[in-house]
Amino acid sequence: MDLHEFQAKGLLRNYGVPVPDGGVASTASDALRVAKVLKGDAWVIKAQVHAGGRGKAGGVKIVKAFSEVYDEASHMLGMKIVTKQTGPEGKIVRRTLIEKATDIKQEIYLSFLVDRDSEQHVIIASSEGGVDIEEVADKNPDAIITERINPVTGMGHFLGRKIAKKIGLDSSLLNQFAEVANKLYQVFADHDGMMLEINPLVITGAGEIVCLDAKMSVDENALFRHPKIEEMKDYGELEPQEVRASIFDLSYVSMEGNIGCMVNGAGLAMATMDIIKSYGGEPANFLDVGGGADVSKVREAFKIILTDPKVKVIFVNIFGGIVRCDLIAQGVLTASDEVPSDRHIVVRLDGTNVKEGRKILEDGAAKSGLNIVTGDTMADAAQKAVELASGGKVEKKKTSAKSE
Ligand code: ADP
Ligand code: MG
Repeated sequence: MDLHEFQAKGLLRNYGVPVPDGGVASTASDALRVAKVLKGDAWVIKAQVHAGGRGKAGGVKIVKAFSEVYDEASHMLGMKIVTKQTGPEGKIVRRTLIEKATDIKQEIYLSFLVDRDSEQHVIIASSEGGVDIEEVADKNPDAIITERINPVTGMGHFLGRKIAKKIGLDSSLLNQFAEVANKLYQVFADHDGMMLEINPLVITGAGEIVCLDAKMSVDENALFRHPKIEEMKDYGELEPQEVRASIFDLSYVSMEGNIGCMVNGAGLAMATMDIIKSYGGEPANFLDVGGGADVSKVREAFKIILTDPKVKVIFVNIFGGIVRCDLIAQGVLTASDEVPSDRHIVVRLDGTNVKEGRKILEDGAAKSGLNIVTGDTMADAAQKAVELASGGKVEKKKTSAKSE
């Protein structure tokens, strides 16, 4: 789950990490009010969207006159930000963060990540902060320092000083850097962070270290132990289908193609994407109904998939382990009355109660003349889904009640 900059900075502040004074504003007059409380003679207005690279896309503005705060905020609010990370559709700015402008002497890059290979955390630092770190990695990889952190023993002062030296910080800053880096690591580790990126971490004219940007994402699966973080979820940043799916405990991932996929389990989801592609098709999304799918969940899953106008075919690919194929079949039948006639349903069922499941589909389809095509194997069904999605016709075969 991604956090907004202002939310991440709130966590940082609670841990005593230096961040600029600031406040959130969702209207231009709010922005003016925040700037007034902050005092000072220069402010920064920052678009709060889940994407980096805002500076280059007009989402970070420095203003030096109080009256301009209103104009800049009103220009930014409602604007669409398009960066490398948002994709071409961009993100609408609904909130801004108004901060006191910091006097920057040097910009540094610092981040914490989970390294699955070593099963440890890593800290990445570079003296070339404020710019795209991928660009630095490309052109000047030696400028990037990576160190592992054992999550059991934690980071420690020594490692902080070591990194500060490696990126060439002045010796007067080593202790201060080590202290800030350790607190940042604590924020990251305590909240089951997947990533905490401070770009830039700056040295001010007065020799203070301050975090000017904060990008954080936390492990979605660990939210149960961080209820306060879960409350920070901004549904406005998600696609409507994702919001609906998360309310029903379904996981939904949107893609570019025209075959909507309803599957159970992440592994089967991956296999389904692969097989669709191997037959020349493109998935529009996948919706994982999980292990405990029942009739109402399947119905909801169908509704969610159907809200995507790109979907021409719904490919139901279920392997019944805990979930029973007859329940899935019933769910498909009850949901299928909502499927417009120009869209097709292709079903592949296997596993627990597959015979009963196939029979329910066969009888139901015969009775109502529904647009349901079944496949005996995953490959057979995938091939049919791809053909239908590309405008082809597939002969409706009688569902056979035998297992493959
Ligand atoms: P993004 O990474 O999305 O472009 P940043 O928060 O990193 O957004 O802001 C971009 C640049 O704007 C920073 O590298 C920094 O130079 C400047 N900036 C950001 N916040 C402040 C601030 N409070 N005071 C002064 N300059 C700032
Ligand atoms: Mg940044």
